[in-house]
Amino acid sequence: MRHCNSVFRAQDIWFLLDRDNETKRKLYLANCPICNKEMVLYSCVNDNEEYFEKYYYSGGAIRIKNQLKKDIVSTMLGFKEKYKMPSGFKYGLNKEIKKNGKTIAIEQYACDFWGNKILVKKIENG
Ligand SMILES: [Zn+2]
Repeated sequence: MRHCNSVFRAQDIWFLLDRDNETKRKLYLANCPICNKEMVLYSCVNDNEEYFEKYYYSGGAIRIKNQLKKDIVSTMLGFKEKYKMPSGFKYGLNKEIKKNGKTIAIEQYACDFWGNKILVKKIENG
């Protein structure tokens, strides 16, 4: 998220129910680390497959939160709480474990964009 010429992570993300003309609806919540303004970023994909996003601040942010609360499917913080692990895994990563130049095992990690990593599987080679 952006404010005061800085870029920072959301403190929570709400994953919202689809609507007829909007899917992949998300609300990113944060306070600006520079000016401490409360802000949210609403994003979705509309029925023309176009990505849409809009920022709301202070009172506007609170209004949008109240409006969208009923549409919450899950939240990043709730997910973390529930599974006791970093949430929002976005991609897999394979790491080769080498010994004397030979791959002896492959470790598979699930990673997210917050820099969290969790070992999912270890495959011994040979
Ligand atoms: Zn700011």
